[in-house]
Amino acid sequence: MTEKIENNKEKPERSANFIHQIIDEDLKNNKNDGRIHTRFPPEPNGYLHIGHAKSICLNFGTAKKYNGLCNLRFDDTNPSKEEEEYVKSITEDIRWLGFDWEDRLYFASDYFDKMYEYAVQLIKKGKAYVCDLSAEEVREHRGTPLIAGENSPYRERSIKENLELFECMRRGEFPDGARTLRAKIDMASSNLNMRDPVMYRILHESHHRTGDKWCIYPMYDWAHGLEDSIEGITHSICTLEFEDHRPLYDWFLDELGAYHSQQIEFARLNLTYTIMSKRKLLELVEKGYVNGWDDPRMPTISGLRRRGYTSESIRNFADRIGVAKRESIVDVALLEFYLREDLNKRSPRVMGVLRPLKVVINNYPEDKEEYLTAINNPEDPSAGTRKIPFSKVLYIEKTDFMENPPKKFYRLTPGREVRLRYAYFITCTDAVKDKRTGEIIELHCTYDPATKGGDAPDRRKVKSTLHWVSAKHAIEAEVRLYDRLFKVENPAGDKDIGDYKKFLNPISLEILPRCFLEPSLISAKHGDRFQFERMGYFCVDPDSNNQRMVFNRTITLRDTWERIQKKQAKNNR
Ligand code: ATP
Ligand code: MG
Repeated sequence: MTEKIENNKEKPERSANFIHQIIDEDLKNNKNDGRIHTRFPPEPNGYLHIGHAKSICLNFGTAKKYNGLCNLRFDDTNPSKEEEEYVKSITEDIRWLGFDWEDRLYFASDYFDKMYEYAVQLIKKGKAYVCDLSAEEVREHRGTPLIAGENSPYRERSIKENLELFECMRRGEFPDGARTLRAKIDMASSNLNMRDPVMYRILHESHHRTGDKWCIYPMYDWAHGLEDSIEGITHSICTLEFEDHRPLYDWFLDELGAYHSQQIEFARLNLTYTIMSKRKLLELVEKGYVNGWDDPRMPTISGLRRRGYTSESIRNFADRIGVAKRESIVDVALLEFYLREDLNKRSPRVMGVLRPLKVVINNYPEDKEEYLTAINNPEDPSAGTRKIPFSKVLYIEKTDFMENPPKKFYRLTPGREVRLRYAYFITCTDAVKDKRTGEIIELHCTYDPATKGGDAPDRRKVKSTLHWVSAKHAIEAEVRLYDRLFKVENPAGDKDIGDYKKFLNPISLEILPRCFLEPSLISAKHGDRFQFERMGYFCVDPDSNNQRMVFNRTITLRDTWERIQKKQAKNNR
């Protein structure tokens, strides 16, 4: 991966990924008359996560690259787990990521009538039958990869009887699970998916779109290839686990004489310290391990957004990790690298003290206040400057002072001079302690008026520069700091390890209720992003209101990815 980043810096035009190579070849052969049409097919049973973002970027990005189209299609074939809330969040997330399906929003449920007709067509060809085995019995008859399955005793029903029974199933004459419609393929196939798979099951449940019209619902494997075919999808991009299902999709389409999309499988995205299973993410939400789907610690797109991620950084990440045919796990530090890269360019710099320690400047006049000039973004000169107030009583970071510092501590300590950013040099004269606890609660310092702006006329040097805020001008705010949700690299990992929840990091959220921020932040709105100098990147949380401002730390400044790279480079030498 070290290589990947270095390559990018040298040649921004990367070579085509294997999917694009397939498409290039298809275009050369004028397959589908040069038409490129992809789709993103989420099941509305949860919120989208960073893995879905990869698929979204791939599908919409491919369409864009080739001047083609990409549909958004909800794969809503399972009524019991699907909800409108998910449809809404999914459309919001895709839009936020920067993609547009224009007027091509579809639902698999739009095709239920068509699918039913197709099923009847297969029955008439003698290629599908109604089976009375229970789900349990179907499983028992199925065999194993090495042992052939057994034919269902209902496999040789007449076409007439099958048509009648299937019609009765649709009319609701049987209870849930009493019968299924199965494809008649080959119970001895080495591919288990081909052993007479179930096409329809009986489920007396309301559907979020079709209501009570249906009490039989198509299985995913029956429905998915048909949906692609009906929409004329040319390249049906999906994750590797569907590779073994492709022969089945092809079989259905061949028997029906329907249009074939070309399915192409790629490896799903896995990230360190992250789980991607919707079932597990739902469990975290339902059992209250996190505060909802959009908790800033969640790998969901809504969580990342609330945390302060930019859509650009996610798109860059998805683009640069590329697509592969083999499963792998990507270091989450790489995602953070793209985040920092983007935030560094766009975030205005401000000063905010997270763990305040009061500082009194003894020789500064009691009532005086002055406004000093600060640079808004050194990466972007057009961002200009702003004025920040200075006065006798300030706050600095508690961790920037030590009474008995170790050798390499260059920040404030009794008798030492340091720079206050954009302000003055100050020297600590005294530390006041809480008599009971011994905790340092206040510092006394003197300032040198000749160092205004942060430079000494005699060129004398100080070893550190601290951020600060003026106490009487400061805004009090709550700041939420986040750490990884899991303690281990691969929490979903080994099935043997057992429950992933035991790897939850107990201190993934720290709330600092009383932070002091420079007054320019008073106008910050929900979604605004800043760099708090020395402390990281922050954004305004939606919990923020007129009474109380709330900020999330998106990420610290320290770039672990860069460090890892340096270390690797050193080891390679
Ligand atoms: P499930 O089907 O088990 O509910 P899912 O994560 O596959 O979970 P879908 O809604 O079916 O959820 O996913 C929509 C699309 O996103 C699918 O095409 C799927 O292949 C793709 N996708 C899901 N997870 C990842 C991932 N980690 N990396 C890349 N693509 C993914
Ligand atoms: Mg899926």
